[in-house]
Amino acid sequence: MSDTVALLPGDGVGPEVMRVAAAVLTRVRPDVECVEALVGGAALSQGLPALPDETRALCDRSAAILFGSVGLPQYEGKPLEQRPEYALFVLRRDYELYANIRPVRVFAGLEEASSLRSELVTGLDLIVVRELTGGIYYGRPKEQRTVDGIEEAVDTMIYRAPEIERIARIGFELARGRRKRLTSVDKQNILETSRLWRRVVERIAKEYPDIKLDHLLVDNAAMQLVRRPGDFDVIVTENMFGDILSDEAAILTGSIGTLPSASLGTKGRPGRQFGLYEPIAGSAPDIAGKSVANPTAAILSAAMLLRYSLDDDAAATRIERAVEAAYRGGARTAELARNGAAALSTQAFADAVAAHV
Ligand code: NAD
Repeated sequence: MSDTVALLPGDGVGPEVMRVAAAVLTRVRPDVECVEALVGGAALSQGLPALPDETRALCDRSAAILFGSVGLPQYEGKPLEQRPEYALFVLRRDYELYANIRPVRVFAGLEEASSLRSELVTGLDLIVVRELTGGIYYGRPKEQRTVDGIEEAVDTMIYRAPEIERIARIGFELARGRRKRLTSVDKQNILETSRLWRRVVERIAKEYPDIKLDHLLVDNAAMQLVRRPGDFDVIVTENMFGDILSDEAAILTGSIGTLPSASLGTKGRPGRQFGLYEPIAGSAPDIAGKSVANPTAAILSAAMLLRYSLDDDAAATRIERAVEAAYRGGARTAELARNGAAALSTQAFADAVAAHV
C-alpha cells in the first residue's frame, strides 16, 4: 500500500514553497502520494472553516502532514476560530503533537549571513527539541481576575512525569543518531517543575548510557547558544523555554527560509510516528506571489517527514545532501544572494536541488 501525505500549502508563500518541496519528495519516493487540501486563509476565503472537514479527513488517513504556512493580514484581530492560524492550533491539539523538533544548520557558504562571526557558526548543526503540549501555555488555572479590588493574572506551569519522559526519550533517541550529546535545559534553582524535569531526565538517562547528558539553566543556555553554539548537539527543554531558545537558535543561520521543523504526535510508532512538518517561518505576505521565497525549509521539512514518519532515513539523507550540494554550487535565493550573485527563483532553486538528488 502506498503512503499518503496530506499536502496543506495554506497561505502566502506556502503554496509556492510546498509544491516544489512535494516535487522533490516524490522524486526520491515516487510511490508516495501527496494529496493537496485547503487550509487556513485559503479555506476561509471559500467560506469554509480554517480546517475544513475534508482536510481533516485527509489528515486522518495520511501518514503525515506537509504543511506550508497560514496567516494573512486581513484576518488579524479576528477571534481565533475565524483566523487561518486556528487550523494549526486544532491540528496540534487533536493529534497531540507534543514534540517539536527544530534542526538548526548553517550550510557551507552561508556563514556570512549569520549575525554571529562566521567562525562561531561554521559547520553549525544542532537540534532543539521543545515540549509542545504542556507547561505554562496550557496549565490551569489560567485567567485574569480582580481580587479585593486589585487586578491580577495567573498562569500555571505544570508537568506530569510521563510528559517529561516521552519528550526526554525523543531527545536521547535523536542524540543517539548523532554526536551522542544531550543538553537538558531547565530552571531547577527556582522552579518545582524544573526539579521534577531534571529528576525524570536523569532517570531516563539510565536507559541511554551511551549518551553524554548535561544540564543547563535556561538563562545560561541562552548565553551559551550565542557564545559557543558549535558545542551543542541536541537540546531538550520544556514548552516556554523551548519557544524562546528555538527562535534564538534559528537566527544563528541568517535566513529563516532555510529552517524546517517537525512536530511529532502520539499516533503511530517510532520511525513511523504521525507528524506535521513545516517551515518555521510564516506566510511572508511581503514576498508572496513573487516566486522569490526560499524553498529550503519546505524541502528539508519533506526530508524530516521521510525520516520520522515514513522510516526512510536514506531518502531523507539524499534530499539533505542535495540541498547542501546546491548551496555549495552557489545556488542562492534573493534573501541570501550577496555581492551581485544571481538570485534564483523558488522553482530554479528547487531545480538546483533536484539536480543533485
Ligand atoms: P514571516 O515568518 O512570515 O516573515 C518574516 C520575514 O522572513 C519576512 O521578511 C519574510 O519575507 C521572510 N521570510 C519568511 N519566509 C521566507 C522564505 N521562505 N524565503 C525568504 N524569506 C522568507 O513572519 P511574519 O511576517 O511576522 O508573519 C506573516 C504571517 O505568517 C502572519 O499572519 C503570521 O501570523 C503567520 N505565521 C504563520 C506561521 C505558521 O504557519 N506556522 C508561523 C509564523 C507566522
